[in-house]
Amino acid sequence: MITIIGAGVIGLAVAAQVAGEGHEVYVLEKNDSFGRETSSRNSETIHAGIYYEEGSLKAKTCVAGSAQLYQLCQQHGIPYRKTGKLIVATDSGEVGRLERLLQQGRRNGVEDLVMLSQREIRALEPNVAAEAAILSPSTGVIDSYALMRFFHGRAKENGVEIAYRAEVVGIERLSDGYRVEVKNGAAAHGFKTEVLVNCAGLHSDTIAQLAGIDIDKAGYRLRYCVGEYFSVNNRKSKMVGRLIYPVPEPHSGGVGIHTVLDVEGRMRLGPNARFVDEIDYTVDESQQRAFHHSAKRFLPFIKYEDLAPDTAGIRPKLQGLGEDFRDFVIKHEKERGLPGFVNLIGIESPGLTSSPAIAEYVERLISDVL
Ligand SMILES: Cc1cc2nc3c(=O)[nH]c(=O)nc-3n(C[C@H](O)[C@H](O)[C@H](O)COP(=O)(O)OP(=O)(O)OC[C@H]3O[C@@H](n4cnc5c(N)ncnc54)[C@H](O)[C@@H]3O)c2cc1C
Repeated sequence: MITIIGAGVIGLAVAAQVAGEGHEVYVLEKNDSFGRETSSRNSETIHAGIYYEEGSLKAKTCVAGSAQLYQLCQQHGIPYRKTGKLIVATDSGEVGRLERLLQQGRRNGVEDLVMLSQREIRALEPNVAAEAAILSPSTGVIDSYALMRFFHGRAKENGVEIAYRAEVVGIERLSDGYRVEVKNGAAAHGFKTEVLVNCAGLHSDTIAQLAGIDIDKAGYRLRYCVGEYFSVNNRKSKMVGRLIYPVPEPHSGGVGIHTVLDVEGRMRLGPNARFVDEIDYTVDESQQRAFHHSAKRFLPFIKYEDLAPDTAGIRPKLQGLGEDFRDFVIKHEKERGLPGFVNLIGIESPGLTSSPAIAEYVERLISDVL
């Protein structure tokens, strides 16, 4: 039996991937439906794979996942738009950083990146102010809920059982698997599984701890980094056709406040990056000034009064503010004496894009246990 903890996009993608191979597969989700946390609180961007360290799981699964997502969208009618994206340098000091980013993207296997001059930018996006830009033609946007519905449907068709209001509160190692303790309202019960896959998002470090891992020693403790969004007045939403990003500030926690478009063309700005101690999705209205200040450098048509507080999401980060790059943890923990236990921790961006590739990776990890 395979048990997956968490019905976000990652748990659902894994369930869809491993279902139908003659295994019994269960998904345990503490909320009363799927996709109620980070997977519905993001920018819905299909990233190309530019920003991440060469050879990292983030880079590899993003580049592979992006191609897989476009194929899934076309084959299964999942709404998407291949909008393209510009990363813009607003002064000559940023042009060098843009060059380095271009090289990084190419090393990661993103082959279609093009450096644009000011004149070329103006021809593509006349309302954007920039000295130079990288054009990423294959970046796009996807309806993330429709993607989850697709993975959910594929999993169910292949016999996966999904239990809602089922919170994992205990994990005990047995000689041939795990006893999982589940709380359902006031009731609690336990059952045995051979394989346990931890896709618990913001709580994945807690699940690792329940399995007996010292998460500080292992480097698995999560930091929460909120990303807020402000909507942009609808009258301005057609002023750009592509996603427009600034050059990212290193070690800031995000890639800089940028335009976010959904499949219907609605425009938002975001997400910022603020490290917090608690899970709280309230948008801090006082951030409006900072959002306007960041965006007006390259989107001069956006006025302060065009913005209104929208939503927020929280990144499950393995690195704190100012700390170096950390990769996704996707690990079969047999070396810690936990055969059949697979951790997915720190699945922040580009987790949505990477989801189909992560699911294949997890399937390979567990194939030697089954
Ligand atoms: C602000 C922001 C913007 C982003 N933008 C993008 C983007 O544009 N493109 C992109 O590719 N990625 C983006 N991401 C990243 C992407 O959203 C995540 O990587 C992805 O959604 C993670 O999915 P998940 O399934 O791991 O987590 P989640 O969606 O959080 O799912 C985890 C699930 O586990 C359940 N769970 C937790 N604990 C338990 C328990 N004890 N028992 C049972 N169930 C439990 C939770 O209830 C939840 O449903 C963004 C993230 C943020 C925060």
